[in-house]
Amino acid sequence: MNTSTQTNDIPENTPAASEGKGVTFTALGLAEPLLRALDAAQYVTPTPIQAQAIPVLLKGRDMLGIAQTGTGKTAAFSLPLLQRLAENREHVGPKATRALILAPTRELAVQIGDALKVYGRQLKLRHTVILGGVSQHGQVRALSRGLDIVVATPGRLMDLLEQRHLRLDKVSHLVLDEADRMLDMGFIRDVRKIVAALPARRQSLLFSATMPPEVAKLAADMLHNPQRIEVTPQKVTVERIAQSVHHVATAQKRALLVSLMQDPALKRVIVFTRTKHRANRVAEQLQKAGVTADAIHGNKSQNARQRALDAFRKGRVRVLVATDIAARGIDVSDVTHVINYELPNEPESYVHRIGRTARAGADGTAISLCDGSERALLRDIERLTRQRLTVIGDEPANDNPERSRPVRGRGRGNAEAKTQRPPRKRSRRSTQGRGKAAKTEAAKSGESKSPAPKAKRLKKKRAKTQGGDTSGHGPFKGRRSAPKNTNRPRRPRAA
Ligand code: AMP
Repeated sequence: MNTSTQTNDIPENTPAASEGKGVTFTALGLAEPLLRALDAAQYVTPTPIQAQAIPVLLKGRDMLGIAQTGTGKTAAFSLPLLQRLAENREHVGPKATRALILAPTRELAVQIGDALKVYGRQLKLRHTVILGGVSQHGQVRALSRGLDIVVATPGRLMDLLEQRHLRLDKVSHLVLDEADRMLDMGFIRDVRKIVAALPARRQSLLFSATMPPEVAKLAADMLHNPQRIEVTPQKVTVERIAQSVHHVATAQKRALLVSLMQDPALKRVIVFTRTKHRANRVAEQLQKAGVTADAIHGNKSQNARQRALDAFRKGRVRVLVATDIAARGIDVSDVTHVINYELPNEPESYVHRIGRTARAGADGTAISLCDGSERALLRDIERLTRQRLTVIGDEPANDNPERSRPVRGRGRGNAEAKTQRPPRKRSRRSTQGRGKAAKTEAAKSGESKSPAPKAKRLKKKRAKTQGGDTSGHGPFKGRRSAPKNTNRPRRPRAA
């Protein structure tokens, strides 16, 4: 086992360190099948962690990534992993795997499995996801043939190792995702045992949003001369963005947008819509009105999207109309205004959208067009950001009395903190995770569908975050066992 503690920081002036600006996936050294998959997934530009990590990982180095969900870290480690495995195909025989990805929760393991499916669709590599809470039968069957990648939560993985359904002696690539959550959930000892059972010659990666001492120690023990890459999620200081809302009928939105564009202060504008179709329509309508505009969304080819982005960046096009997904990873500075032609379904998306203005310390302006059907979405946004949007023009006559009261938080922290926290899984319009005031309001308006009793909800939540039960037999019998669906003992989280 390697015990090197040396880490190397990326120098500030390398292109890779420059926030991914202007870098393309092709330039990062990714092979054609992966580029095609990224194109199909509508990824236009690498995120900063992708721009920094991919070239390093393709060279086979170990990496310590300080990054959290939402930064694009899954693609940052999956793309080079898939490429390296595809370049060096090898059948490892039954019950073995070439790569192991450990994730603390079932939800994350499934997400990683889905991402591998998307990115590796052209590569014909075999992977499976191993997690607790479901029958092990299918997992055992998948393992029996031997695989290229196993994504697993530690508990079920330990069970299958103990039952000798899986061998780790062929693992040449290890990814440990969300190591600090592993620690929080009491999995760190299991992780250490798993890592100790791997061949010493391997490429290892560890991702963690924070670096408590125990995680730093684990990183030092399991990584060999790692490249340290740290990305802080973009801080969205919503307080510094001037935010206003126009209450307007759906049919009037188009004319209002055109009239807003008469103001020359709107120099470089991103207009957000919910659908690709609407993005196209709005761009066309603006063009007809004499405003230079282009749309960016998933139905456009990679080249068309890149062209639109370049034209916008260089100021040849004044308005870029985008959907939320297509706008991910777009890093354009000096956006003077964000216009929400349609409000997003998730209030968090509003914060991401308006964060496209006010970048790099500049102040920005966000204007929202809200029709009658979107008022509940507006209330969600105001609750999340704890700010009232300035109403331009008339307040809607029959608006909910809630709007005249001060906006209260819903117990989820402020918007800035929220953007830095891993998103909690929440059904689109469910009331789970909201504050009492919001729940009462939702119940009154019939928004929620009879929430499950508290005990039931807790049980469900625990079941979701447990990586599976453990039995305490076999080669790992010294470890602590945790019965299914009970909380493992929590250790105090280091600062
Ligand atoms: P992650 O931080 O890996 O959980 O990724 C967060 C989200 O960003 C996922 O929905 C990814 O599909 C998406 N994503 C990651 N990288 C990119 C990219 N370069 N362009 C667009 N979307 C991306």
